[in-house]
Amino acid sequence: MSLLVVGSVAFDTVKTPYGQAEEVLGGSATYFSVAASYLTKVRMVAVVGKDFGDAPMKLLKLRGIDVSGIEVAAGKTFRWSGEYSDDLNDRTTHATHLNVFETFSPNLEEKDIGSRFLFLGNIDPDLQRQVLTKVKPAFSACDTMNFWIEGKGDGVKRLLGSVDGLIINDSEARLLAGEINTVAAARRLLDLGLKFLVVKRGEYGAALFHGGHYFAVPAYPVARPVDPTGAGDSFAGGFMGYLAREGRTTDTHLRQAMVYGSVLASFCVEDFSLKRLAALTARDIEGRVRELRDFVSIRGPRQRE
Ligand code: AMP
Repeated sequence: MSLLVVGSVAFDTVKTPYGQAEEVLGGSATYFSVAASYLTKVRMVAVVGKDFGDAPMKLLKLRGIDVSGIEVAAGKTFRWSGEYSDDLNDRTTHATHLNVFETFSPNLEEKDIGSRFLFLGNIDPDLQRQVLTKVKPAFSACDTMNFWIEGKGDGVKRLLGSVDGLIINDSEARLLAGEINTVAAARRLLDLGLKFLVVKRGEYGAALFHGGHYFAVPAYPVARPVDPTGAGDSFAGGFMGYLAREGRTTDTHLRQAMVYGSVLASFCVEDFSLKRLAALTARDIEGRVRELRDFVSIRGPRQRE
């Protein structure tokens, strides 16, 4: 089942305790699509500038991603730069240059209308809502971040009334809900009309709130997390990619999707940009999925033999 994503494509400049990377490929739609491409067919709708070049486009095409919805506009590609604390849990944004994003109007084609699965990556919430209204998918989810919550909080809240699910960072969920506790924030956000909510908690894993139930997965333990940029989008890509592959969205499917999200995010953090994420095999992914299932089982591997 195909999956449509609208989001940012960027050049990121990132500093972490493990090193730094300048003007490397990033963006919410990019991480999302590459992660999901291991599980289903993905189509990207985004905008880049004339400076984007062939190499990043080639990387996306090599992953089998449909890039015909990426508009190449006059101007510069979106740029973001940020820095992480020693434990990688805190991120400071140094600069956000929207560039061609400022006038972005998603280029939706006839075939996009009615797409069964839609992910609204982190972009202007008014654009997210515009796309959702046009596409009318069977199942949709979105993400957002502090930049939009602080700048267009009402727009974000309006979006939550029409989208099925929100996949968001812990601190951003609390900021959006105006609560200091995650569970209280989750209740408040669900009250805005969401069917499900995924709260991502970095190295502590992620929690799913759905139909009055709570479910949590740990993060896959990574010994050398080099750069967490894109981990949230990779989580969303694994999550939505799994659901689109299965074509079903029951509570059990959502729980399984959490495992795929966690696994894809774990590969993302192992190197800067998409270096690790774009070079995986199905075997790498299924191996970690099996391991992660073992980690959460209360019966040790020996007892199951
Ligand atoms: P994540 O680490 O999963 O939250 O996503 C990081 C990605 O989001 C980076 O590759 C950035 O290029 C992109 N990004 C950062 N700020 C924004 C923004 N205001 N709007 C859209 N994308 C952004």
